[in-house]
Amino acid sequence: MPTTTKKRQRRCIGCGATQEKGALHRVVRTKEDGVQFDPSGRVAGRGAYVCSAACFAQARKSRKLERALRCSVTEDDYERVAREVALAEAPGKNEE
Ligand SMILES: [Zn+2]
Repeated sequence: MPTTTKKRQRRCIGCGATQEKGALHRVVRTKEDGVQFDPSGRVAGRGAYVCSAACFAQARKSRKLERALRCSVTEDDYERVAREVALAEAPGKNEE
């Protein structure tokens, strides 16, 4: 592994693959609003990354999001974020 990487690398909490930050979906824990999907990747707070909706589902199954964000994540949070990650993955579906 090279120690000098120009792009910031992040690890998917679902499959464990390392990718450039821009290639991953970010989930963030904010003080005010709890766990949120962060399409911009710029929201302040502790973040976790997944590369796809499938990886998010994987992280949900094994409760990896809780560990990554160091907080409890409710079923509602998982539902909401899963939906938003799926939408972000298929942008064409936003145009209905
Ligand atoms: Zn992944």
